[in-house]
Amino acid sequence: MIKAYLRAGREKSVLRRHPWIFSGGVDERRMETSLVSGDTVEVLSAGGERLGYAWYSQTSQIRLRMVSLDAGVTPGENFVRNLVAQAVRRRDPFDTDGATRLINAEGDGLPGVVADKYGNYVICQLTTPGAEKWKHVIAEELMNTVPDCKGVGERRDADARRREGLEVGGFAMLIGEEPPELIEIVENDIRFVVDVRNGHKTGFYLDQRLARQAVGSISSARDMLNCFSYTGGFGLYAAAAGAKSVTQVDASADALALARKNEALNAAVLQDSWRTTFDYVCADVFKYLRQCRDARRSWDVIVLDPPKFAETRSQVMKAARGYKDINLLAMKLLRPGGYLASFSCSGAMTADLFDTILAEAAADAKLDFQIVARTGHAFDHPVPISFPEGRYLKGLILRRR
Ligand code: SAH
Repeated sequence: MIKAYLRAGREKSVLRRHPWIFSGGVDERRMETSLVSGDTVEVLSAGGERLGYAWYSQTSQIRLRMVSLDAGVTPGENFVRNLVAQAVRRRDPFDTDGATRLINAEGDGLPGVVADKYGNYVICQLTTPGAEKWKHVIAEELMNTVPDCKGVGERRDADARRREGLEVGGFAMLIGEEPPELIEIVENDIRFVVDVRNGHKTGFYLDQRLARQAVGSISSARDMLNCFSYTGGFGLYAAAAGAKSVTQVDASADALALARKNEALNAAVLQDSWRTTFDYVCADVFKYLRQCRDARRSWDVIVLDPPKFAETRSQVMKAARGYKDINLLAMKLLRPGGYLASFSCSGAMTADLFDTILAEAAADAKLDFQIVARTGHAFDHPVPISFPEGRYLKGLILRRR
């Protein structure tokens, strides 16, 4: 196996169990020229100490991603199959109508491999050359280990693929049958249709499951404004909990069309206990919140679940202004005693900075807010404790005094 030597001192992060080694950490002069992206290499310190194995990526700043810190394993096909099978076992028991993240990249020891189960289908996103190289093995193992699995497909449109020099495309099957246009799932007794070909990520924001539950639990008999609603998640949880009204706001007409479908689906099942009035607004949230301010509208619960405002550390300050803007506007639209559920999925923004931004927004609004809960990724999104980059999702539920 090809060896990759690190520069002197750069073994420290590996010994602290961090899975990434950046280009500056690798001793390029000692690198074999035959090495290609996706190869598995043996990683050694400058002094020749064996540290483990990694997947190599030539074009990415993250040159090596550790797949094992155990110098005793053979990191070939059976190793990959075992990691997939272990990840699937960790998610047992299965609810076949439910949606579950089966493989959460570094969290399951497979950098760049995401696999989400929707009903009888598994949809992958493969964003490293190592993941790409092993994708057929991964798909086959998923097909074998996931109960009642009919097919495994992949979404090839993630930006990360471009950064890694991988081909970018749409949706393709890896093994088995094509899924239907829309897959129906049940999450905490709430029904959703998922468009795995055109929806965001693999089709649904599985990471926010716990937050949707928490927000649902405070929405009974209240008026909710659900900003960045996507296919309606937070609003549907609120309705199931007995909210008076829900206003779903998103810039995507396609997302709102699915949100309407989801409303109808749940109303048909719950019938008499489903009494919420829904309103759908296709708008830019930054503008819509200003219109609401000018029209002196107010709500009991406001959800802000925006897309990533910062992709990299250099964009954090600009992103911070965006977060502060919408949070300040939302705070002013809340009735006394009302709740603001505010989220950030920018990995480059720390939890501390997010707290500070919300505290500054409250100060500018001249209002008192209390933290009543913090939320993060759902249980099926494990993150190594040594890997802060994996903790991208932050949530605060605040109550206006
Ligand atoms: N809360 C959702 C996920 C939100 S994802 C859930 O639980 O499923 C972010 C959403 O923000 C996407 O649907 C995207 O279309 C929308 N969006 C992005 N920028 C926007 C903007 N400026 N105004 C309104 N919606 C926007």
